[in-house]
Amino acid sequence: MDNSHTIFGRFAPSPTGPLHAGSLFAAVGSLLHVRAQGGLWRLRIDDIDPPRAAEGSVAAIEATLKAHGLRFDGNIQYQSHHIDRYEKALQTLEDQGDLFHCACTRPMLSPNGSCQNGCASKSHAKRALTSLRVRVPPETVIELNDAFLGPQNWNLGEQLTDFVVRRSDGLYAYQLAAGIDDAAPLTTQVIRGSDLLDSTPRQIYLQQRLKLQSPEYGHLPILKDQHGFKLSKQQGAPAVDDHFPVRNLRATLQALGQPCPPSRLNDPESLLDWSVSQWDPLRVPR
Ligand code: GLU
Repeated sequence: MDNSHTIFGRFAPSPTGPLHAGSLFAAVGSLLHVRAQGGLWRLRIDDIDPPRAAEGSVAAIEATLKAHGLRFDGNIQYQSHHIDRYEKALQTLEDQGDLFHCACTRPMLSPNGSCQNGCASKSHAKRALTSLRVRVPPETVIELNDAFLGPQNWNLGEQLTDFVVRRSDGLYAYQLAAGIDDAAPLTTQVIRGSDLLDSTPRQIYLQQRLKLQSPEYGHLPILKDQHGFKLSKQQGAPAVDDHFPVRNLRATLQALGQPCPPSRLNDPESLLDWSVSQWDPLRVPR
């Protein structure tokens, strides 16, 4: 890979099924934003939750990206290959006294998922079924200038006392894995759906504790179906139809608030090249 680039964006689907219109939207938005700045766009497969993985997803994701002219730079990255990185980070957090074991089951947690049963001051270390949580001190404030939403801030310590970094089944939590993989120099730009906006302050907090440099963040609007529900795999959103890439891309560009490409452009690559040259983040609906 060409090392002269310093801006690295990514698209990071979980291999839980084929891409739907909402994931295509995140893929196109992240590609246009990073390429308009002369950066590279990578594909990362977030495969650290094997029970949720669906066979054949990675091939289906690759096929959809290819059919839509969404060419990623370098090799596919797999989170399952980053275990050493996550273990090292957990060790650093542990050495700093940031972690505690929690034996609570879901119904025992507060609505935002924090532990309010004093596990932080108990000793559970020898019990098998504990999750590992990171403490968030009450005074923690996280600020961010979102590429599309503008200035954001969270009184994280008031909203959240702690969150899971390793689950009780031993799997690494999304917050930990994404927080680490999304830090510079690996990733310098994270463009994704606003459904993940709540995760961002947690991931930035982890980056701060681990002395990692946070990327630029931008949260795209959430695509809804005709009934007003978020398009998601859980809601059964249909897979993108790879037979109609030009139609799909034109609809995606419109939802991103970008100018309509001239009708003479009728292949995915030229639509995307033209749209990179026209990309305006201020036109993305909030
Ligand atoms: N892999 C996760 C998902 O597909 C997170 C993606 C992200 O952080 O952009 O929802």
